[in-house]
Amino acid sequence: MIDFQHVLDTIHQTAQKTDDRGKIADYIPELAKVDKNKFGIHLVNMNQENFSAGDSNERFSIQSISKVFTLTMALGLIGEKLWTRVDVEPSGDPFNHLSLLEFEKGIPRNPFINPGAIVVADVLISHLKNPKDEFLAFVRNIADDETIDYDSTVAASEKQTGFHNYAAANLLKSFKNLENDVETVLDFYFHQCSLTMSCAQLANTFYLYINNGRCRRKNTHLTSGQVKRINALMLTCGFYDEAGEFAFEVGLPGKSGVGGGIVALHPNKFCVATWSPGLNEKGNSKLGMLALEKLTTETELSIF
Ligand code: GLU
Repeated sequence: MIDFQHVLDTIHQTAQKTDDRGKIADYIPELAKVDKNKFGIHLVNMNQENFSAGDSNERFSIQSISKVFTLTMALGLIGEKLWTRVDVEPSGDPFNHLSLLEFEKGIPRNPFINPGAIVVADVLISHLKNPKDEFLAFVRNIADDETIDYDSTVAASEKQTGFHNYAAANLLKSFKNLENDVETVLDFYFHQCSLTMSCAQLANTFYLYINNGRCRRKNTHLTSGQVKRINALMLTCGFYDEAGEFAFEVGLPGKSGVGGGIVALHPNKFCVATWSPGLNEKGNSKLGMLALEKLTTETELSIF
């Protein structure tokens, strides 16, 4: 039996001694206010036993991790039709990149780069009566946690400086791959990114993806085929232009966000969330990546 608590404690001790913590994302002004010394880690195994260390109960801005939840909801609503509007190839480009290749036909490379997530947001808006409320209710439901909420200050802060995302949405609109107007879609997108959750909440919410589409309360939200697709996308596209490096170092599917959070999982075994706000040059949490590398090395639990 692996002593997960001991492994997490060791990781936390190493993190506390690390000075080189990367750089906080400041292109969203509100994110720049977060304390760089924070570090949390939380793991939940298949039996729903929980292990944690550090600031694992403190909420932070989950940013791009929310793209996994919108994708999950959109797949539930329209199924495979989604892939006519967004591709499933890794981009090898940063999250906000507007490459011509990606836009040749107005089809974003995958649902986890910003243009792809904006298309997924558009799908939700077209299919829901009150998109922001219904999406929040969906996340609360799979998390089994009614306290999860948007941070409207972070959403407003991103709107002020979201020029790249406005460019992406306008480009998608020009290719007729956006059904709703740019303002409505981006308002939804900025809100989904502003969700605040702790490592403990994230790890428990991602239980769904290690448990064949059934969340902790055993409600089925996804078919096993859909879980396979989402986990495959997390492995190949979950870490911007560092997905290869993450697979190489950590060896798990996962998703990061510029708020410094990372969630990673081993189907049928465990999911784990880390938070450290300082990012490396590719936009992934510097300490988070080191922590997860240590976790899979020490436990010998990678999917490879
Ligand atoms: N809201 C952020 C953006 O669109 C999300 C980026 C991220 O976490 O990767 O710029």
